[in-house]
Amino acid sequence: MVYKASSERYATMKYNRCGRSGLKLPAVSLGLWHNFGGIDTFENGRNLVMHAFDLGITHFDLANNYGPPPGSAEEMFGRLMASDMKPYRDEMVISTKAGYYMWEGPYGEWGSRKYLVSSLDQSLRRMGLNYVDIFYHHRPDPETPLEETMAALDHIVRSGKALYVGISNYREPQAREAIAILKQLGTPLLIHQPRYSMFDRWIEDGLQDLLEENGVGSIVFSPLEQGLLTNRYLEGIPKDSRAGGASVFLSESSITPEKMDKVRRLNDIAAERGQTLAQMALAWVLRGGRVTSVLIGASRVSQLDDNVAALDRLDFTGDELDRIEAVLK
Ligand code: NDP
Repeated sequence: MVYKASSERYATMKYNRCGRSGLKLPAVSLGLWHNFGGIDTFENGRNLVMHAFDLGITHFDLANNYGPPPGSAEEMFGRLMASDMKPYRDEMVISTKAGYYMWEGPYGEWGSRKYLVSSLDQSLRRMGLNYVDIFYHHRPDPETPLEETMAALDHIVRSGKALYVGISNYREPQAREAIAILKQLGTPLLIHQPRYSMFDRWIEDGLQDLLEENGVGSIVFSPLEQGLLTNRYLEGIPKDSRAGGASVFLSESSITPEKMDKVRRLNDIAAERGQTLAQMALAWVLRGGRVTSVLIGASRVSQLDDNVAALDRLDFTGDELDRIEAVLK
């Protein structure tokens, strides 16, 4: 049956302004890095996207290399746009990226104009779209002049293939330079996509201040540490989890007794707040309004429900924050 979106989809989601731009993003966005590739089932991916949209999640984040195999997440998303989501295109914010290895030869990765423009053309073909809402440079390139990479982003916006541009995984000094170059070119940087969670707080050391001063939004990836900051691994490593499955990005060996001790103590604090650990981990990332959106992944629709319900309780008492700090130390 063709999908019909819930009439209640805008009833509860919070939408935050992305920096000093005109664009608002849902406080919770969905990423298609895992669970949407050629190795996954189309029906599950379809259910996840449709359920997310019914919950008010309007933003879907992709990249050229998501799969596996690389490109297959965009293909799956393109299939879904054609079969179900096309009527809602103007209600959706779709992003993709280029920066990591995508094809053979000297033009298949990093940050040249040559690579970025052809990669976006490929992404648009795979997704069956005329334009993406946000196009990112996925990682800094140590060799290509930043002026060239930023000029390519500016060109992409002017050519109508993206409405806004972002950068991902840039540290503070390079992000500062990128912001200045883009401002001069007349295509302001909309957003930065860094990694941020209770277990990885590098952005607190300068990057967040820089983004705020310059009116740039932020969407943070792996806010649940790929599932570690949830109840997923409390009783061991399930076979159907990211760590127990085929993903090379979360290994069983990285789930150490020390980390699990912290996870259990955080889980106790969450329970006292009447939340699941996933909900508290997301609320913590959103605390103080410094982050525009948390970019989650999900393997099943129940996780989407769990995560969006984090928005029911975003406030923390001083005592709760102190106790969390004591665990994270
Ligand atoms: P998360 O930290 O949210 O981890 C998601 C995983 O955690 C899920 O796949 C699921 O794993 C588990 N999970 C999620 N919710 C729950 C819950 N409520 N209870 C129990 N387990 C839960 O984010 P990701 O690491 O998946 O990254 C999110 C997105 O960020 C990506 O899809 C991508 O768009 C973006 N990203 C960007 C990067 C960049 O370089 N710019 C790099 C990495 C990600 P399980 O399969 O075990 O059920």
